[in-house]
Amino acid sequence: MIPPIASRFVAGESPATAFDHVRQTNEDGVKVILNLLGEHYAERGPADDDADAYVDVVRDIGATDLDACVSVKPSQLGIDVGDDLFRENFRRVVAAGDEHGVFVWCDMEDHETTDVTLDAFEEFAREYDGGVGLCVQANLRRTREDLDRIVDVPGKIRLVKGAYDEPESIAYTDKADVNEAYREDLEFLFKERDDGIGVGSHDPKMVSLAAELSAEHGADYEVQMLMGVREDEQRRLAAEGVEVWQYAPYGDKWVSYFYRRLRERKENALFALRAIAGV
Ligand code: FAD
Repeated sequence: MIPPIASRFVAGESPATAFDHVRQTNEDGVKVILNLLGEHYAERGPADDDADAYVDVVRDIGATDLDACVSVKPSQLGIDVGDDLFRENFRRVVAAGDEHGVFVWCDMEDHETTDVTLDAFEEFAREYDGGVGLCVQANLRRTREDLDRIVDVPGKIRLVKGAYDEPESIAYTDKADVNEAYREDLEFLFKERDDGIGVGSHDPKMVSLAAELSAEHGADYEVQMLMGVREDEQRRLAAEGVEVWQYAPYGDKWVSYFYRRLRERKENALFALRAIAGV
């Protein structure tokens, strides 16, 4: 069972607890992107198992009136074993999403997977009529060119700053440069697209910029934030009429995800210490 301190960031271990979380979050007007925890499988078995689990969850979401979708990770669907395995498993989840009317996102991992992930997104988004979304990372120097390539592809694009430590030769490593790239990429998306723009950031400056750009260009967008991070703001934005999606991980592989959340921000670590100390 997940201890209470981790349950701020993780929606339980089972699909049932994840669905309870979706129901409660939807009551606040916030929609939910479910992510089954798991990554970097070195063998086919667990990658196939996670794809099966996503197919089941997509079917179960489709049978409810919940506002929910899923987001998969390439390395959880087998990209470390082989590109073909990733494509095969990703296609299975996307086909299930198409059958049951459930949107399927794909997270972006480190730069060695970028080309294969982009190719798969482009192919499936066209084939399945926009039922697929892709995350792109503003810290990668290549991203502006990638956006040029996919900006007219149906589906959605989630822009994030980028969570992976990448070499300076291919990525902006200074925070100010990443923020500048994020702003430029967001402006490009709002100029070029009418909809399907996901603002994956907790940064108030980027959320405000998205609102300004939407007012200027008339494009529809959604804000995406993580479970356990700025949830008051998620509810406030939703109450204001902004489409807000909360990315909520679930599953039994929660330990490393939880520690990543603690490491990335002092306030999160203090929250955990306070919970342990009971204050
Ligand atoms: P930061 O640059 O970390 O912070 C900027 C400001 O935001 C802070 O000064 C503060 O005002 C506010 N803020 C940030 N965090 C908090 C907090 N915990 N509490 C209060 N205020 C805070 N990365 C990938 O590489 N691939 C992915 O597929 C991917 N998917 C993601 C999906 C979603 C929905 C989200 C939200 C992020 C995803 N990320 C992904 C992570 C992303 O790349 C960033 O590492 C992460 O979001 C931190 O950047 P930021 O824009 O939120 O804000």
